[in-house]
Amino acid sequence: MGADSGFDMVPRLSQGNQDRREWERFLEGVKQYYADDEQVEVGPRVIQFKAGEWPSLPMEGHKFLRFSSKITGATAAKTGVENYIREVQELAKAVFGGRIRPWNELFDVWGFYRWDFVHATMKLHNLVGTPLESPAVWLVLPSRKDIATPEPIPLTSVNNQGNTDLYEVMAIPGRGKGLVAKVDIPKGTQIICEKPLFTLRSSAPPSMHHLVAEKLKLLPNDKQREFLSLHNNFPGQYAFAGIMRTNALPCGPGSSVGGIYSTICLINHSCIPNAHNNWNEEAQHETIHATRNILAGEEILISYANEPSQARQRKLRESFGFQCSCELCSQPLQAIQASDKRRADIEQLDETIGNPVAMMSSPQKSLAACHDLIHVLDQEYGGTVIALLARLYYDAFQICVAHGDQARASVFAERSYMSRVECEGEDSPVTQKVKGLMRDPTKHPSFSAYSTRWRSTRTARPRNVDANSFDKWLWKLSG
Ligand SMILES: [Zn+2]
Repeated sequence: MGADSGFDMVPRLSQGNQDRREWERFLEGVKQYYADDEQVEVGPRVIQFKAGEWPSLPMEGHKFLRFSSKITGATAAKTGVENYIREVQELAKAVFGGRIRPWNELFDVWGFYRWDFVHATMKLHNLVGTPLESPAVWLVLPSRKDIATPEPIPLTSVNNQGNTDLYEVMAIPGRGKGLVAKVDIPKGTQIICEKPLFTLRSSAPPSMHHLVAEKLKLLPNDKQREFLSLHNNFPGQYAFAGIMRTNALPCGPGSSVGGIYSTICLINHSCIPNAHNNWNEEAQHETIHATRNILAGEEILISYANEPSQARQRKLRESFGFQCSCELCSQPLQAIQASDKRRADIEQLDETIGNPVAMMSSPQKSLAACHDLIHVLDQEYGGTVIALLARLYYDAFQICVAHGDQARASVFAERSYMSRVECEGEDSPVTQKVKGLMRDPTKHPSFSAYSTRWRSTRTARPRNVDANSFDKWLWKLSG
């Protein structure tokens, strides 16, 4: 026996282009890192680490669930397997971020997937097996990151084109250009839908500079000028890379591919935004939706950062080159401190909700945390962070569905769906996915995965009751 350590990929990669390219990029990094290491062998099917229990990485990412080995015992110590685990984990994190779930039995942190599931997957794909024993059986936990909220990232100034019925590009004192509403824009309105000038995977500045130059050559002169007039927070030798870093919006949550837009890149930041940006993977375009009613004359603003004030201001300064003085940041110190407390609470609650062990053993507490989070979000943002609400309702959906509760799961999916429509539009693939789950929660892979203690049919929701009673039922509130 001995203690295992490693990391899991959660959720596992798809066979889609983006996941495939990221996996290839990761493997490239691994190969380069270990180019001179004889214990690491690149074969046709896997990269094999001849240390500990010989952990391996398949050439195709969708076949990958886990990289691990026993890290105690003479063999482990002699072959230095613990270093491989740590280094490969860091390389993976650099590409896949939060999708990499480290675990270590020495510290009572357990893997995400059951061992028998990992073994069956390796067998299915005919991967070189490591002599893994099959210890405890863990449940396959559903991933709350199934549907992640896009992380807002942004930029600054250029020329405008496209549909200007709703907004115009104007000079904004102290902030270059910005978009200002020409008419009253109701909440949920799609303000902009724009194809990128080009998209590019992020890379080191010298190579990025070169790649951008190649992309620019393919653009007409006016588009080249638009790109070159964008703000650059990283001036110097690799100017094109600097503009890209300052302005590119990720094509999807956590994506390392960024898109550059003539108009959307002009939208400024507010810590209390009134609009939301979203990448539609299917249509390959970026949309901007109003997340509250915006009055004619108001600037359209999205959020580049959600952290408490100190971390937020640092990020805005370092990545985008400005000190924020939005309606929140210009408040007296006391109000900013109250906001910081709420933002810390939001992070804390988010963590509680995302804890799969709690979701399994005390789902009522996880659900209560969702309920609390709604109130904190409302206090902090006044209901304008619809994308966060959409994710929160989806979390509540997952808690209920994992315990067999179709009635509540369906209501939460419906609320998540409504929020997605408002901030991403009906045609967003994520919106459509949630819509399908609203109609049939049993289609979710973790349906009844934890227990059936909350078992109910989809239509078992209370009828003809007031909103208050309905909410009490929905959130399982007593009293
Ligand atoms: Zn601010």
